[in-house]
Amino acid sequence: MPELPEVETVRASLARDLIGKKIKSAAVTNGRVVRRHKTAKDFRALVEGHTIKSVQRLGKNLIIGFDNATHLVIHLGMSGQLLRAKGPKDPKPKHTHVVFTFAQGGELRYVDPRTFGELYVSIPPNEGVEVEISKFARLSIGGEGLTLRHQVPELAHLGIDPFEDQIGWDRFAAILRSRSTTLKVVLTDQDIIAGLGNIYADETLYASGLRYDRPAESLSTIEIRRLHRAITEILTDAIKYGGSTLTDEQFVDPDGKPGTYQQFHQVYDREGLPCFQCRQPIKRVTVRQRSTFFCEKCQS
Ligand SMILES: [Zn+2]
Repeated sequence: MPELPEVETVRASLARDLIGKKIKSAAVTNGRVVRRHKTAKDFRALVEGHTIKSVQRLGKNLIIGFDNATHLVIHLGMSGQLLRAKGPKDPKPKHTHVVFTFAQGGELRYVDPRTFGELYVSIPPNEGVEVEISKFARLSIGGEGLTLRHQVPELAHLGIDPFEDQIGWDRFAAILRSRSTTLKVVLTDQDIIAGLGNIYADETLYASGLRYDRPAESLSTIEIRRLHRAITEILTDAIKYGGSTLTDEQFVDPDGKPGTYQQFHQVYDREGLPCFQCRQPIKRVTVRQRSTFFCEKCQS
């Protein structure tokens, strides 16, 4: 499933050529991906004729801002891809569900074999209407996150985004100390920290020397600072390499290029292989039907 680095890779690529483009038409061939709208026609009416002003991201969501202050939100789900094409003659991949055609030429296609992803248009709240923002996100002292949540109320519940919300280690500590659940659960709960999933939670925990099953509230100050730093370091690195593309998954950027950060994974998908620090085999356990990879010796 695409996590923050993969979605950020898509965002940065789209921001380079989508801004200023006008959506001439949006052809929806699978209504399931626009399920928040009553009909595909309703969705089309909200996007067609609009010019793109911004391409942003919050957690695992892409947010495309239009000239009328509405936003097109795209969540890639498990297997969603956004692919550019020159025009209708470019062969359409299987499972293409939405095709945006731009007035200036070119297309952007939404492809999703498993159809867990979705696209919807968010209308900003009327003036004076209070948006209930996540209590964790409200700890942020800067960044674009709070503004984005006010503009796109569907995302107001999201917890801290490690880049769009600024939060020092001390406030991060307050969040951890209020949670008795395990670190893995806290790190992958989008309502606490937005953007981390299975891969980057495991990599972050390994980089901080912490076990997945430690209660969040049990961390010492030094451990909290280590974890806080590791989150941004791992994500920054992963973005630099265009995210991770695993053998059984299909993450690619809008030009069809896979990421390469999987080459640098220390634990994820390395069950039985030697730990790069201590040579002990990496362990895999199943927590809430999802795999967790860790080193028993290096993480405590
Ligand atoms: Zn080790």
